[in-house]
Amino acid sequence: MSTAKIIDGKAFAARLRTDIAAEVTRLKAAHGVTPGLAVVLVGEDPASQVYVRNKGKQTLECGMNSYEHKLSADTSQEELLALIAKLNADPNVHGILCQLPVPKQIDENAVLAAIDPTKDVDGFHIVNAGALATGGDGIAPCTPYGCLMLLKDTLGDLSGKRAVVVGRSNIVGKPMAQLLLRENCTVTIAHSRTRDLPEEVRRADIVIAAVGRPNMITGDWIAPGATVIDVGINRIEGADGKMKLVGDVDFDSAVKVAGAITPVPGGVGPMTIACLLNNTLIAACKANGVTPPKLGFGN
Ligand code: NAP
Repeated sequence: MSTAKIIDGKAFAARLRTDIAAEVTRLKAAHGVTPGLAVVLVGEDPASQVYVRNKGKQTLECGMNSYEHKLSADTSQEELLALIAKLNADPNVHGILCQLPVPKQIDENAVLAAIDPTKDVDGFHIVNAGALATGGDGIAPCTPYGCLMLLKDTLGDLSGKRAVVVGRSNIVGKPMAQLLLRENCTVTIAHSRTRDLPEEVRRADIVIAAVGRPNMITGDWIAPGATVIDVGINRIEGADGKMKLVGDVDFDSAVKVAGAITPVPGGVGPMTIACLLNNTLIAACKANGVTPPKLGFGN
């Protein structure tokens, strides 16, 4: 029985951050520009606080400026939109991210729509989603973009490959499908209403799992030799009673069938912040008339 190659997203993300830091140094020296990322957090959701802290730390480590705005849970939509307008107008801020979810008195779509699309480093603004869908030059969402980097690093040219994306969220599934289509894959998007999901997955050369259901996709769903990218991050209780992180793919059975597979943790997860920093670097270059580097694709 063969065992899949393990795709080391943690190491890939560390290399990408090193390349970003080198480009930031160059941008500062040649153009006097320091990329700046503003992260807005409304409320005290513990998971969001951890994400925001990690983003701030890694932003500084890459030599960029980090601006953290922590607002209380009772912040009104008007106050949040006023802060975003200020950040949109600030030339030192090249990327703006509002950590989701926001408290219920605030309309998430209104917040996403208020961010200047050229500073929308999450790639969630409708203008960027539209650019991705129509072949325009927009900002791609971080998690799917990170998945694409791992896929191209593993497989090279993706042209003609059959890809199944399980999940159709605006932040992962749909943009992932668009990115794969752009790479000339034949793309199937599966979701909770898909008939005979195992059979759909079995047809794929590339499986992207973005569902949010622990260990749902098992080895017997995977075509021998397929490449499996597991976006899922699920916290479950292990056999020892301790909490642990698992993906949407049952790693132990899938690793025996797949050609290559991302682990959870240490696969897709670390790519998300690295791609956020990459998007911020690109936004800072474009805002200053500098051609952005194309990092993460081996050239
Ligand atoms: P989401 O918005 O909840 O979307 C889940 C998708 O899965 C939906 O399209 C849903 O279908 C589909 N689905 C649910 N149950 C299904 C089933 N039984 N069979 C087939 N499809 C099913 O989730 P998300 O935000 O895309 O996130 C997905 C996973 O990725 C989560 O585990 C999340 O934690 C993780 N994630 C990781 C990162 C990272 O940095 N690595 C970033 C973002 C998300 P319907 O549309 O029909 O309901």
